[in-house]
Amino acid sequence: MTLTPQQQARYARHLALPEIGAAGQARLSAGSVLVVGAGGLGSPAALYLAAAGAGRIGVMDGDALELSNLQRQILHRTADLGRPKAASAADALRALNPEVEIVPIPQRLTAANGDGVIGGYDVVIDATDSFAAKFLIADLCHAAGRPVVHGGIRAFEGSAMTVIPGRGACYRCVFEQPPTAEEGAPRGPLGALPGVIGAVQATEALKLLLGAPAEALLIGRLFVYDAWRLTARTVRVTRRVECPLCGGEVIA
Ligand SMILES: [Zn+2]
Repeated sequence: MTLTPQQQARYARHLALPEIGAAGQARLSAGSVLVVGAGGLGSPAALYLAAAGAGRIGVMDGDALELSNLQRQILHRTADLGRPKAASAADALRALNPEVEIVPIPQRLTAANGDGVIGGYDVVIDATDSFAAKFLIADLCHAAGRPVVHGGIRAFEGSAMTVIPGRGACYRCVFEQPPTAEEGAPRGPLGALPGVIGAVQATEALKLLLGAPAEALLIGRLFVYDAWRLTARTVRVTRRVECPLCGGEVIA
């Protein structure tokens, strides 16, 4: 891909990085990412993906914008209240980078519609806020053979991990069963917390599009961030042979 003078200017800081350069920028531009959830995590994730020049970004969310969302969901503006979040997100992302193709999908992900959607993207970002949705995304991405970057937030703590089907631990290896409604009930979060985790998810998605080696990715590692103590660590996670999703498969 030959970069136009405008693209050379827009992506100059990427072009200066040997890990990206013109070839990497072309890979980003040829790549596609599905962001499931246009909320706290999806906002920073989608904004950074659009800014970075990821070629096509799907934004899937079935909700309309509520006032309580604006404390952390920085894709949206007060004037967007009541609008479908997928539409509001699409406007913001197109305004940020008109070169990127934005696909708003104003639907909730389900087993019925998810199959068809997920297969159309190179990478999936799990920016949902319910364990039911996270397990569904894990299952659908496993079936479709698509890499997925999970993210979760609660109160002051967030986590992220990347799963490439057939390599390393999957979401169900780490979180065996959805927690009870009480255990999994949303708490908080601090508004800036999803900014950190969503940015980590965008980072992982960009590296996946760039073809970064496995050791550079959060594969087999759970990133855990505590915003109250301001500490971060990665915890090694391993495949479970008895995992209901990936157990019993031959893993590279
Ligand atoms: Zn597993």
